[in-house]
Amino acid sequence: MIYLDYAATTPIHPEVTKEMLPFINEYFGNPSSIYECGRFSKTAIEVSRNKVAKLIGADDDEIVFTSGGTEADNLALKGICPPRNMSRNHIITSVIEHHAVLETCNFLKTTGYEITFLPVDEYGLVRTKDVEEAITEKTALLSIMHANNEIGTIEPISEISQIAKKYRVYFHTDAVQTVGHIPVNVNDLGVDLLSISAHKFYGPKGIGALYVRRGTELYSFLHGGGQERGFRAGTENVAGLVGFGKAAELALQNMDLEAERLSRLRDEFIRGILYSIESAHLNGHPVRRLPNNVNISIDSVDGETIVIMLDSHNICASTGSACSSRSLGLSHVLSSLGVSYEKNNGSVRFSLVKWTSEEDIEKVLNVLRDIVATLKVR
Ligand SMILES: *Cc1c(COP(=O)(O)O)cnc(C)c1O
Repeated sequence: MIYLDYAATTPIHPEVTKEMLPFINEYFGNPSSIYECGRFSKTAIEVSRNKVAKLIGADDDEIVFTSGGTEADNLALKGICPPRNMSRNHIITSVIEHHAVLETCNFLKTTGYEITFLPVDEYGLVRTKDVEEAITEKTALLSIMHANNEIGTIEPISEISQIAKKYRVYFHTDAVQTVGHIPVNVNDLGVDLLSISAHKFYGPKGIGALYVRRGTELYSFLHGGGQERGFRAGTENVAGLVGFGKAAELALQNMDLEAERLSRLRDEFIRGILYSIESAHLNGHPVRRLPNNVNISIDSVDGETIVIMLDSHNICASTGSACSSRSLGLSHVLSSLGVSYEKNNGSVRFSLVKWTSEEDIEKVLNVLRDIVATLKVR
């Protein structure tokens, strides 16, 4: 099987599993207990916190662990935007955000917030000028994703953060697709809040973090025992956190080489598709793009048909995002790029991973070419 849907999730790295196992089988102490086996768990959590902080250039006490990217997005948005805050009740985001941001914004509308959904250009880039024009004295928060999960476009976050700073607006970025894959530094990006998820870079599912810049006024929406400095009550998922820390450590060691290799493989793959399939078209930005993302459309072919035919050759790809509620098979991201109905309907996303080889890509190219020929498209 050739699995090319790593943007949906990655397998757990064997070294991550190894590090987690003792915390499943042996060490069960509650991190809040003061006796030794409790303190042992607590220490393991703090070691992981340090590894995650290092990966993004943050301080340890700026990391709030969550159950994943979705919760981190929810905490950022709901934490900055409490209900009935009439003095500052405006949020700016983009039309191509992950549903974890879009749906939270839609929820916040019901609590008194006005939401501006910024459009994007044909490559999926938010225009800084649009951000500046949208800010009012009522704006509480700006939330723009670092890289898009469907088309891989990397947004100009550090430029947008200049604007956020100028108008003193909190700036959140959903960096679930970039952390662990390309260098992410919260100070270079200039963000106040940043969402991370472990299962997108070889860590376990159900664990993630929100980076919260020191001094940020954030409300909690999980109340109880006061864990995570009161931002997120509840007994910690110790094994998950240990795995998250290990995944962060491995990512930091391997990132540069891997990003370079994958970018080369990605470009080869894109060139191969565009060269051999006349009716194929690349979605997203040609250069400002995640190293592992290839998203194409093929004229007059249904993306779902291609995905099913690829599957019969033991190749897993996706028509877009695994977690989106696609209406009529259409992607909200591609629709907002102004991609026509046909091209949107014909889109296929391939996402590569550290184990993807040149031979895999060659095989997929050949199969894809045959499929398109069978479907009698030029
Ligand atoms: C996967 C993903 C999420 C959700 O993260 P979970 O840990 O699965 O909840 C949020 N944003 C983006 C961009 C993602 O790709």
